[in-house]
Amino acid sequence: MYCRNCGEQISEQAEICIHCGVRAKNASVEDKPNWGVNLITLCCVPLVGLIIFFVWKNEKPVAAKSALMFFFINLGVIILFYIAMLLLGLLSS
Ligand SMILES: [Zn+2]
Repeated sequence: MYCRNCGEQISEQAEICIHCGVRAKNASVEDKPNWGVNLITLCCVPLVGLIIFFVWKNEKPVAAKSALMFFFINLGVIILFYIAMLLLGLLSS
């Protein structure tokens, strides 16, 4: 096959182009939302989603964006929770 970046011929099994160092098209990296990470981000540690996004954004953009989305969902829920608590506090006083 040919490298999608520089056009040089590379091995069918090659994961990274030996000419330019760019990852080959049919690399074996599985890029899909990682539900384990998404679940941890959503229920326990939202920061995990943010860290995963920066770690994966080049190699696994789909999984990275999914993790980031759950980070923002969690962030939104936390903010709504605090607003609700604030409003309840104001109402009860
Ligand atoms: Zn190349």
